[in-house]
This record gives sequence, C-alpha cells and structure tokens, in this order.
Amino acid sequence: MSLELKRVPMAEQEPEARKHNFDEVSLGYTLEEAIQEAKRCIQCKRPRCVAGCPVNIRIPEFIDQIAQGNIDRAAEIIKETNNLPAICGRVCPQEEQCEAKCILGVKGEPIAIGRLERFAADYALEKERESQVPVSNGIKVAIVGSGPAGLTAAADLAKYGYEAHIFEAFHEPGGVLIYGIPEFRLPESLVRKEIEGIKDLGVKIHTNIIIGKTITIDELLEQGFKAVFIGSGAGLPRFMNIPGENLNGVYSANEYLTRINLMKAYDFPNNHTPIKVGSRVAVVGGGNVAMDAARSALRLGAEEVRIVYRRSEEEMPARLEEIHHAREEGIIFDTLVNPVEIIGENGWVTGIKCIRMELGEPDSSGRRRPIEIPGSDFIQDMDIVIMAIGTSPNPLIVSTTPDLKVHSWGGIIVDEETGETSKEGVYAGGDAVTGAATVILAMGAGKTAAKAIHEKLKVREDQLLPL
Ligand code: FAD
Ligand code: SF4
Repeated sequence: MSLELKRVPMAEQEPEARKHNFDEVSLGYTLEEAIQEAKRCIQCKRPRCVAGCPVNIRIPEFIDQIAQGNIDRAAEIIKETNNLPAICGRVCPQEEQCEAKCILGVKGEPIAIGRLERFAADYALEKERESQVPVSNGIKVAIVGSGPAGLTAAADLAKYGYEAHIFEAFHEPGGVLIYGIPEFRLPESLVRKEIEGIKDLGVKIHTNIIIGKTITIDELLEQGFKAVFIGSGAGLPRFMNIPGENLNGVYSANEYLTRINLMKAYDFPNNHTPIKVGSRVAVVGGGNVAMDAARSALRLGAEEVRIVYRRSEEEMPARLEEIHHAREEGIIFDTLVNPVEIIGENGWVTGIKCIRMELGEPDSSGRRRPIEIPGSDFIQDMDIVIMAIGTSPNPLIVSTTPDLKVHSWGGIIVDEETGETSKEGVYAGGDAVTGAATVILAMGAGKTAAKAIHEKLKVREDQLLPL
C-alpha cells in the first residue's frame, strides 16, 4: 500500500468574493472526497488520535466507516461521544488535538479528522431526525447556560435518564456558538439543528432567564433540582484601561460580534440593533476572537481593517487557518504594536495612538514578553476600535451564591475529577471555570460533570438519601 502524504483539499469561497458576504468560507468535502481522504487512514493498531480528542471520539472506527461508504454508521459512532460534531468539525483546533497525534503527520499531512467529522455530521443532519427520547427517571437537574458546556452536560444527563433543564439568559440558546463565532465560520442554521438534536433527547431549554437575577442557584435547589451544572461561560470583556476607551466607536469584540451575529445588526433597520461600520477599523488582539471581529468588520463594509497585536505573529493564539484566511481577505497585520491611547473628537473615535514593541525574555506564559520601544509612538486615523484582548467569567452567579469559591480572576474553583464546586450538588465547567478556552474543552467539562452528577445521584438514590 502506498502512503498518500497529502490530504484531500477542501473547496473554499474565493477571498475576493467571500469578503463581501457572511456565507461559510469552507465548503466541505463531497462524498467522493471524503471517501478518498478516509482511505488515507492506515487504521493504526494503537491509534494515538483518540487520546488527542478531549471527548475521545473513536476516530479510526468512524473513518473506516466513511472509507467503506457507510456514512450513517460513521455519524452514529461520532455521536456516541460528541453531541455537537458538525460544530466541532468546523471550529475545533484539531491541529493541536487529534490531528497533532496522527502518525501520518510525521512524514506528511495528518488525516483531516475535523473535515471528515464535519462531513459525516452534515450528512446526518441533512436526513430526517429520528427522535429517541430516553426514558426519564424523573430526577430534575438544572443547567445554567446553553453554550457547548451546558448543552453537552444536558445531553449526557438526558441520556443517563435525568430531566435536564437548561436556563439561558439570552433569547436564543447556543452561547458563543450563536452570538460569538460568525456565520462565515459556523452557520447558525447548523448550530440550531444540532441543538434541536439535543432537545430531541428530552432536554428542556428555558430562555430569557438570568440565574442570579430571575432566580438563584439556591432557589433552584429549593425547587427540587437535585443538582446544578454551571456553564455560564466567560462573557465579561476586558479592556486596556487606556485613555479614550469610553469614546463612541470603541467596542468590545464581544459586544461587536453579538450585535452582528445574534442581533443581526448588518440588516439595520430591518433589525433594530445598530452598529457603526466605519471605513478604518483597528482590532486589538491576536486570538480567534480578534480574527472573527476583523473579518466581520470587512464584511460589514470597512475599507481598511488592521489587527493590532503587541507580540509577533509567531505568538498569536489564533488558529493558523484563521490567520491565513484573514490575510487572504486583505486584513492588515500590525504586529509588535500596542495601543496607548484612543483619540477622539466630539465624543467619537478619530484615531489610535500606538507604540512599537520588541520581544524580551519569556514571561510566565512561556511567550516572550513584549517591551515598549521608547519614543516609537505613532498615530493612525481610525473610525472604530474593537478590543479583543480576552474575557473573564461574569461575577453575577458567584455574587448571588455565597458558598461558591472562586479564583481571584473570577473562575469557579472545581474538583478537576468531577467538576464539583465548593457547594455540594453544584458543578461547573467550561469557560466559567477555565476562563476563555475552546468549544471542545467546554464540552469535555460538561461530560465529566454529567458523569459525576449521575454517579452521585445514583449512589444517593440507591441509599435512599435525599440530597
Ligand atoms: P459559552 O459558550 O460562553 O456559553 C455560556 C452561556 O451561558 C451563554 O449562552 C450565556 O448567555 C449563558 N449565561 C451566562 N450567564 C448566565 C446566567 N447568569 N444565567 C443564565 N445564562 C447565563 N473555540 C474553539 O474551540 N474554536 C474556535 O474557533 C473559537 N472561536 C471563538 C470565537 C469567538 C468570537 C469567541 C468569543 C470564542 C471562540 N472560541 C472558540 C471559544 C469557545 O467558543 C468557548 O470556549 C466556548 O463557547 C465556551 O463554552 P461555554 O459553554 O463554557 O460558554
Ligand atoms: Fe478532533 Fe475535535 Fe473531532 Fe475530537 S471533536 S476528533 S478534537 S475535531
């Protein structure tokens, strides 16, 4: 058997066309392409990729089914461990996870595991759903937040037989999948379909309910919920605390993307949420969120969009694919540059004052510390400045749940094995615990907590102890 070193390429919208629309950039494999790529897998006796996936999908098994043309079976195998595969196939950092472990990566390109996962999941979503509601044991568990952590915990709890109720602050479930990650990377229709699949398991989703305001965690427990999982994410934006940050035209990436994705601001006045487009936009930061904000600004109609990042491109935390796509679309990268002031006139942004940086010794993150070069400051004209320098967990739940212990930066402290917090019967996972991380890590945390909740409630049920 000759080893095929290169993966089957995936079709994409051309950069010139796609920068003017919000349609998905990557178009996915055809059946023939998926089978061809799947056939590259050498079906290792001791595969390493499975351990590289935080939810341990049985990767060689599902790939083998694709290679044989059994796409339904491939999708079933994936779904046994992953409730949101069409999403993960698109946004997981596979290059650092499963694909990083693939043995083919030593001499050539690893199997395109994410693309194959996406293909099988999309294929299954196209078909009519068959509802298989698991038999309920009548025990109610509350889940706070409907992002990937909450959705996964709820789906697994429903599969174990619990009555899982999700409480979501927004009017639409999905968390960052709906309000953060833009349509051109993750179509909303697809997120909705995967959420419908979770509802088919019997999961109830209650929207427009803010835990800590509408009802507290303690009140949920008093109302008969036997356990609570907190998956409330890290939606509180950070700012730089530099002069001018309160000018009109300065957005947090969170607000900017929520206005576009959730509130459809690009369709103003048909939708009522406005957004300032501007012709020159600076996005401060170098992660996925910064790339999403920059590429969204371009699609809204900005003429010049610049990423302003204080380290070099090598240190950028964004996925390589996102950086590549952003550059192809014409985003300008100002690296080793840091804003020191936002300049305005009549209350609106007119420019940004930056200083050039150089890299010193590595800091606690292992990345080389950026140091200002004295006297190198310069001003650029700008209409919009978007801050994408990170987020923290929102303190609302913690401040209304007295026994919940948190780190100084706001993350909820949990037992790593179980996800249980300092308050008995209350579990947490995802960005609310780790700070901003990834979809699949949030899902893994939801799974861990669901299993632990099941173990605990099962034991108590057997011992007839009320929780
Ligand atoms: P979230 O997805 O944040 O969901 C939390 C939910 O809880 C929200 O719906 C929120 O409204 C709700 N909530 C909060 N407080 C309350 C309350 N008091 N009461 C009720 N509900 C509440 N990760 C990747 O793996 N790949 C990517 O490409 C990627 N790109 C990203 C792009 C952007 C723009 C952003 C913002 C993040 C990106 N991430 C990416 C990170 C990833 O989306 C998050 O790590 C993940 O969504 C965390 O999941 P979660 O369930 O913990 O929280
Ligand atoms: Fe890889 Fe993510 Fe799929 Fe796991 S869920 S196999 S990490 S793409």
